Amino acid sequence: MSKELTVKQGKKITPEQAKEVNKNEVALLVARPAQEEVEGQSHAEWVRCPYCGAVGVASVSNRHWHNVWCGSCGQMFAV
Ligand SMILES: [Zn+2]
Repeated sequence: MSKELTVKQGKKITPEQAKEVNKNEVALLVARPAQEEVEGQSHAEWVRCPYCGAVGVASVSNRHWHNVWCGSCGQMFAV
């Protein structure tokens, strides 16, 4: 009875690219979304961290995001 999940594989970015990232466009990768977010307004996507392999939900309140911060290892990556 498990739901099919589409997990996006994140892409590593260089430290130079990380510096240019607009902090308002970064989602945070969390292991599990808050209950309200599953049904709620924000757009949550499953992504895999290319650095540590953690899979989680990129929790975002902002529609325009291209980068994700891993809540597990602290690295930033692109999706
Ligand atoms: Zn990570």
